[in-house]
Amino acid sequence: MRLSLRSFLTLFCFLIFILGIAFEFGCVHRTSRSYEWNSNSPLAGPKPTTVVVLLIDGLGLSVFDELDQQALLPNLRSFFGETRFSVRSVFPSLTFPNISSLLTSRPMGAHPVSGNKVQWVDSEVLNFESPVDMPQLQEILKPQTLFEKLRQKHLRSWSLSYSFNFGSPTILRTNIGAGLQYVGEDYDKLDADTLRQSLHAFERLGRDQWPSFVFIHLIGLDAVSHLYGPYSPQAVSYLQNLDRQLQPLLRWLDKNDSTQRSITTLMLSDHGFEKVSKTFEIENVIETLVPRNHPTPLILNEMRMAALHFTKRWSANAKLALAQALSQNPDVQAVLTRIGNSQIHLNLKDRLDILELVPGQSCRPYSFAIRYQSRVTCSQVLDLQAPQRDLYKLFENAGAYFSAESSPDMVILAANGVGFAKQYLGQHGGMTAEELKTPILMRNSVVTAGSSEIPIYEILESFSF
Ligand SMILES: [Zn+2]
Repeated sequence: MRLSLRSFLTLFCFLIFILGIAFEFGCVHRTSRSYEWNSNSPLAGPKPTTVVVLLIDGLGLSVFDELDQQALLPNLRSFFGETRFSVRSVFPSLTFPNISSLLTSRPMGAHPVSGNKVQWVDSEVLNFESPVDMPQLQEILKPQTLFEKLRQKHLRSWSLSYSFNFGSPTILRTNIGAGLQYVGEDYDKLDADTLRQSLHAFERLGRDQWPSFVFIHLIGLDAVSHLYGPYSPQAVSYLQNLDRQLQPLLRWLDKNDSTQRSITTLMLSDHGFEKVSKTFEIENVIETLVPRNHPTPLILNEMRMAALHFTKRWSANAKLALAQALSQNPDVQAVLTRIGNSQIHLNLKDRLDILELVPGQSCRPYSFAIRYQSRVTCSQVLDLQAPQRDLYKLFENAGAYFSAESSPDMVILAANGVGFAKQYLGQHGGMTAEELKTPILMRNSVVTAGSSEIPIYEILESFSF
C-alpha cells in the first residue's frame, strides 16, 4: 500500500518535471526556490573544475557560530572568508538519511534511506552504522548517487569516507587501525589520516587528472559530541584541533586553484545535536502500554526519535490509543502515526491534528500537497509565519518521512533535552533547530538573493557536472 502512494507521487512529480507545467491550481500555494545559487566556476563551462566537499559530521549551526564568532577556527575563516549560510537537514536528523540526501540530491522519501536503522524487505532490520550492513547500503543507494552519475559521464570522483564510498575509486585505505582507533576514541587520528590521504591523493596527480567531485567525510566531532555533548569543552577543542588539521589541505587547495583548473570547496555538515540531560526508556514504557493479546511492535531506537513497526494484529484504533497514551508523557514531544495510505495523525500533549497527503496537485518536483483543516498547501513552503509555520514544518517533515519506502507506522519524538539512549550526553534524530540547522561555507561559489536555509539535498544539485 505504501509503495503505491509513493510510486504515484513519484510518477506524478516526474510528469510535472518533464512537462514543466507552470500553472497552478487555485487551492494550492506554490512557491519556488527563494534563493539563487551562483557558482563562480560552473562546471558546465569550458574550464575543468573540481568540487570538494568537506563534511564535518554532527556540526550544528549554533555550535559552529559560537566558535566562529570568537575566531576560534582561524583556518576555516581565512580559507572561506566571512560569508555564512545555513543548511536545513532532512528529518530524521541522522547521518545516513542526510548524507544520502546530499549525495543523491533527493529529499527524504525520494531515496530509500529513511533512518540509520530501517526495516527492510522480509522484515529484515538493517543497521547502516554496522559494518555488516554497510555493503547493503552501497547496493541500495549507489545507483542514485552523484558518484554513479559522474561515472556514467566518464567523470572521476573520489570518496574519502568509511561509510559512503559507493564504488567510487576510494582512496581511503581501509586499514585495520581505523576500526581500532574508533573503538579506542582516537577520533582525531582517524580524521587526520583521512585529511592526509586526501592531500596525498591530490599531490600525486597532475591537474588534468583531478576528479570532478571529492567527498571527504570527517567523523570525529560526531563521536565526541555524543560522548560529552555538543557544547562540551571536549567537542570545542576537537573542532579547534580539526581546524588546525585542515590547514595543509586548505593551503594546497588555495595554492592550486588556478586559471587552468578552478577548485570549488564547500564545508558543511549532515545534522546538529541536542544536549541531553534526561533519558526516557522508550522500550520499557511501550511494553507497559501494549494491549493484551497484541505483539510488542518493532522499536527502532534512533536516540531522539523512535520508529515503530506494527504487525497486522494492530488495528488503527489500537495504534492511535497507544499514540495518545505516549503523547501524554512529559518526556515525549509528539507522536505521529500513519493511518492507511495518506493520513497522518499528530498527537501533541493537548491536541490532535490530522493531515492528509493529497495526490494530483501541482507542486514542484519532490514536493507534495498536504491538506490540513481544509487548506491544501504544497510542502517546502518556506514563507509562512510562526506559529503556523512551525506546525507546517512538522507536517512537511512527517509527510516526506512517511512517504519513504522503508518508513515505519509510527514515530515518537523525544521532548527537548530528552534522549532515548542511555549512554550519550549528545543525541540527534529529532526536529529541533539544534538538530536540523547546520552551517555551510563556500569558496568559489555563493548563494545570492534571500537568506533562507538551503535544503541539504539541493546543495550538489546546483552544480552542473
Ligand atoms: Zn552524522
